[in-house]
Amino acid sequence: SMQYPEKIWHNGAIKNWAEATTHVMAHAIHYGSSVFEGVRCYDTPNGPAIFRLQDHLKRFYTSAHIYDMPVPFDRAQLTQACKDVIRANNFGKCYLRPVAFRGLGGFGLSADCPTDVAVAVWQMGEYLGQSATDTGIDAMVSSWNRPAPNTIPTGAKAGGNYLSGQLIAREARRLGFGEGIALASTGLLSEGAGENLFLVFDGKLYTTPVSAAILNGITRNTIMVLAKSMGIEVIEQDLPREYLYLCDELFMCGTAVELTPIRSVDGKKIGSGEPGPLTRKMREAFFGLVKGTAPDPHGWLEYL
Ligand code: PMP
Repeated sequence: SMQYPEKIWHNGAIKNWAEATTHVMAHAIHYGSSVFEGVRCYDTPNGPAIFRLQDHLKRFYTSAHIYDMPVPFDRAQLTQACKDVIRANNFGKCYLRPVAFRGLGGFGLSADCPTDVAVAVWQMGEYLGQSATDTGIDAMVSSWNRPAPNTIPTGAKAGGNYLSGQLIAREARRLGFGEGIALASTGLLSEGAGENLFLVFDGKLYTTPVSAAILNGITRNTIMVLAKSMGIEVIEQDLPREYLYLCDELFMCGTAVELTPIRSVDGKKIGSGEPGPLTRKMREAFFGLVKGTAPDPHGWLEYL
């Protein structure tokens, strides 16, 4: 069975893992009313550092704000909670999961339930396996679209959004693919089940815009900033599906997958079928930054 970490932060205190419980009638269980973050902590030459924690926490409060969910802890308190729970488990490199949800306090959709807050932490290596990060994955375009813009806001990282992600990811798994890529309700390219996309054409990076029903990814932003500093042009643009088949290189990015090459889509080989030169260059720059072996001009590494 699964091995769980020893400690978790829950509603203001470090607890034993098994003690961080809630009631089965909590609002979030029935209605998807939670917001969360996924954050990575890396081992660096100067000790463990959480990558862009403040940006992740800002997005966390933004997600809560969209749903009028009061978060009874401020950013400084949650920053401390993240650091404390890593230390309580004696972890270095790990994955952090802050979550806030409407708890027990009413059964109506608009009930003002108290907000529960937790920060879990666990050890996570390469999300899709080491070979995925090295040689790339085989992806498919999902039969499921991302939500239309006037339905569920994809700019919020809310639990309910991951019903869409589950349909996309489970379909891909069932059909033997490494990941599913969704189109937006417009029919244009959106993003992966839990990752943003970058396409390479003639040495330039293209990524889908926030209007294409994506989550505004922090890894996506990191790659955009890194590329610009390396003199590589980045273009945010709507793209039709077939551009997946036409591009020179393709990769996806996100906190969990980091920067993972895609070697085929729908059985069609991308470029040579091997991670291309710009993908490799961006991977090197990205891992240099997060692992603290390259300069960090933006102060994105937050040391414990
Ligand atoms: N899109 C979706 C739907 C996601 O769940 C994630 C992972 N949080 C991303 C994109 C990538 O975002 P980030 O780089 O901030 O992890």
